Amino acid sequence: MKALITGTAGFLGSHLSDRLIKEGAQVVGMDNLITGNINNIDHLLPLKEFTFYHHDVTKFVHVPGDLDAILHFASPASPIDYLQMPIQTLKVGSLGTHNLLGLAKAKGAKFMIASTSEVYGDPLVHPQPEEYWGNVNPIGPRGVYDEAKRFQEAMTMAYHTYHGVDIRIVRIFNTYGPRMRTNDGRALPAFFSQAIEGRDITVFGDGSQTRSFCYVDDLIEGIYRLLQSDYTLPVNIGNPVEISIKQAAEEIVSLTGSDSKIIYMDLPKDDPKIRQPDITKAKEILGWEPKIDRAEGLKRTYEYFKKVLS
Ligand code: UDP
Repeated sequence: MKALITGTAGFLGSHLSDRLIKEGAQVVGMDNLITGNINNIDHLLPLKEFTFYHHDVTKFVHVPGDLDAILHFASPASPIDYLQMPIQTLKVGSLGTHNLLGLAKAKGAKFMIASTSEVYGDPLVHPQPEEYWGNVNPIGPRGVYDEAKRFQEAMTMAYHTYHGVDIRIVRIFNTYGPRMRTNDGRALPAFFSQAIEGRDITVFGDGSQTRSFCYVDDLIEGIYRLLQSDYTLPVNIGNPVEISIKQAAEEIVSLTGSDSKIIYMDLPKDDPKIRQPDITKAKEILGWEPKIDRAEGLKRTYEYFKKVLS
């Protein structure tokens, strides 16, 4: 199998590139490196199974030869990234997706998109099943990401129904693990960096908002199974164990043995109050559920952050 992975130098894109190469695939990795980090794929660059293109997928995409699959994982993905890069965020989900769908159609390639729990917005249904249509503010600060991803799903489904492109839509819930950027602004990398460097731990709001954190290896396994399946409707992949952000902060302080104190700051606008995936479909269709509990996942992530921050 030969696969194009966009966002190959990002957190998920790099782990996915590793996994497909491990499964015997040829991987063409593409990234414009605005939020991706080339260090994440340093170990892949010398491999004959891996080719890297430094390219922005919102521009015309050309890949010579056959392609069996295209996995579109390129996008700013952290709230501070898409606040700083609202236009790029909208473009990569819309124009980028359109370019890559055109390529998938021309090559007869399977097309997978990295969608997100953000399509559910600040949800009024809990936990969130795939049938829920969401509660998104299109013009709020998160709208650029949420609406780009919703457009991405719509466009992908249109190419499926109109052009017969074989599609996979994974709705990814909060994920953590090695290769997250220390300064990406998301809760767990922020708390680890702050704890390790002895800075205050910045909990937004009163910390009672919840998230459900999935360790990256579990997520990649779910994505791989979906890719191998023949299921063309959206599938939630995430860990359904839900905790408050305050609890996440406390667990990281305790794990790292840090002297940092937790401080409370303003809650960003439209920050979802609750989030938990309903993974019934993933269980039934893919036989998948997460295996790595938070204690183990946080320990592995701590090892990584200690190394990169030392
Ligand atoms: N958060 C926080 N402190 C931080 C970063 C994030 O309290 O330094 C909160 C944020 O307001 C949200 C939750 O943690 O309620 C998860 O935020 P993250 O940016 O990780 O991802 P989101 O799920 O909001 O996209």
